[in-house]
Amino acid sequence: MAIATETQQQNQHQHKDSSEVSAGEQRRWTLNDFDIGKPLGRGKFGHVYLAREKRSNHIVALKVLFKSQLQQSQVEHQLRREVEIQSHLRHPHILRLYGYFYDQKRVYLILEYAPKGELYKELQKCKYFSERRAATYVASLARALIYCHGKHVIHRDIKPENLLIGAQGELKIADFGWSVHTFNRRRTMCGTLDYLPPEMVESVEHDASVDIWSLGVLCYEFLYGVPPFEAKEHSDTYRRIVQVDLKFPPKPIVSSAAKDLISQMLVKDSTQRLPLHKLLEHPWIVQNAEPSGVYRG
Ligand code: AMP
Repeated sequence: MAIATETQQQNQHQHKDSSEVSAGEQRRWTLNDFDIGKPLGRGKFGHVYLAREKRSNHIVALKVLFKSQLQQSQVEHQLRREVEIQSHLRHPHILRLYGYFYDQKRVYLILEYAPKGELYKELQKCKYFSERRAATYVASLARALIYCHGKHVIHRDIKPENLLIGAQGELKIADFGWSVHTFNRRRTMCGTLDYLPPEMVESVEHDASVDIWSLGVLCYEFLYGVPPFEAKEHSDTYRRIVQVDLKFPPKPIVSSAAKDLISQMLVKDSTQRLPLHKLLEHPWIVQNAEPSGVYRG
């Protein structure tokens, strides 16, 4: 594990502002600092548990990753980047990463707890969201992405599986595994096919406007319950993305204002996509999104 080999002496790290978890002093976290509660879920590389930091009583989610599995999948570098980026972001719609520590076999991430769980499960349950709900979520994510882009962080993997729901019903971007901190245009292929913009499918240079495309795909999926370029075969999804084969089915009924917004985001020429600050002024957002960013049902 890269973290372990490069920082043997200092076997933990947290950002200065971890005052929500501890009393504000610099500390070395160990498993003994936490009471471990129920499992919250299972990911590819380990488990996530509800936990309470003993001194402050602060409730967190503790993600436990097995070094052997990280090594096997060669994602140590990706994890390092995720930790580095996420620990420096402070936004109401971005899940906080308070710090990390590790032992011989595992890496532990101390995360903000999102009590209402995964967004994609909500979407599965509801099949699709109301326009009010979709617009509230899209506006809150646009604000979070404006914040990220202002810090030269491109997320690159916006999709329902990477979104959690906070205590008030607010969305939290939870996974920065594919994000990059960059001033340059990038050429790496990453993310899940359905949410990839043409320039990433075709492996040409891309920039922060990839996140506008993915947010457009997400907005479509919120309203229709399926992503816009879905197809049985990967090659068909690929072709539909590259051709921007965007169709709006007659059911469920979606307003023309919502379709207009989606059409302005899913534009092949990345320079012509609706900028995120303009998205916040779009009539569909203005008329439907809760200004608080919180959807209460
Ligand atoms: P992951 O390894 O990030 O895919 O997490 C596995 C599962 O644990 C997720 O699908 C969630 O159900 C749950 N989970 C992860 N992080 C949190 C969190 N911060 N708050 C609540 N549940 C979480």
